[in-house]
Amino acid sequence: RPPLLAVKHLGVSFQTDRGQVLAVDDVSFELQSGQVLGIAGESGCGKSVTALSLMRLLPKPVSKIQDGEILLKGQNLLDLPIKTMRKIRGKKIAMIFQEPMTALNPVHTIGRQIAECYSLHFPGMGINQKRTASLQMLVKVGIPDARQVMKKYPHQLSGGMRQRVMIGMALACEPDILIADEPTTALDVTVQAQIMDLIFQFRDTTGMAVILITHDLGLIAENCDRVIIMYAGTVAESAAVTTLFRHPFHPYTKGLLQSIPSLAQTAKAPLPTIPGNVPALYEMPVGCRFVKRCNRALMQCENHRPRLMPVSSSHFAACHLVRDGEKKLN
Ligand code: SF4
Ligand code: MG
Repeated sequence: RPPLLAVKHLGVSFQTDRGQVLAVDDVSFELQSGQVLGIAGESGCGKSVTALSLMRLLPKPVSKIQDGEILLKGQNLLDLPIKTMRKIRGKKIAMIFQEPMTALNPVHTIGRQIAECYSLHFPGMGINQKRTASLQMLVKVGIPDARQVMKKYPHQLSGGMRQRVMIGMALACEPDILIADEPTTALDVTVQAQIMDLIFQFRDTTGMAVILITHDLGLIAENCDRVIIMYAGTVAESAAVTTLFRHPFHPYTKGLLQSIPSLAQTAKAPLPTIPGNVPALYEMPVGCRFVKRCNRALMQCENHRPRLMPVSSSHFAACHLVRDGEKKLN
């Protein structure tokens, strides 16, 4: 069975005042229907850039998809005219963000904004049908007094309510894939759990796949099937969640996990830090991008770029130690 989504060797360049840099370099992964994939990494590691690439919403003209393919059910989204891409956005792939205010229109009522989602993707729907569907969606995403909320403007709602509205808008078109970029970071712990539950209820009933982008490893451990650990624009490691937490391979992943006292305690904590800094984009090492912080670096690490290689079936790491036989020790 071909995957729902296959990202192959994605490369995204950014124009900076120091020249052109590769913000995302050789990122590959697959996603199946109903699967929840976590993408984790420190801020600036390319998580959001990867997500925006899938929607073809990268900021222009500073950024550009340089290489690779984004195959949705076998069709390369990068080949599509922008008009066709607009129909895919929302309908096939929807995205929710950390701060819903940026996604909601401040001068339109909630009711009007949800109805617009239906207009965009179901042009045949009548005005009353759209009203009913919008109302039902607000109820589904757990909004009390949905009828009242329809008449309100975004600034009249709490952060948690706005996030629910945005999820409602994203789910209105029953997307095949929901990309959630730090969807709960700005919310308090209880609301955070409710929002995640909401997303997973929809996953269970519709079979949509979810890409959860976060720096919160606890959130990933609790909610994801697979996980990708990104470092400085590259995929460091990719595995089933249980495998990654029990048998991390990449020195970066190991560092992250070792600095967590216990997973339970980190559920709400930011990604732990390990010594050193992520290199700036304009001074990336030619070899492994992690080399300056790695306590296991080999001779070849400075000059040879490690590619993702299988550690075991469906567990991959971009590290020269894979080839060096380290995997036998694990
Ligand atoms: Fe460390 Fe080398 Fe592996 Fe990079 S490739 S993580 S520098 S051992
Ligand atoms: Mg981000």
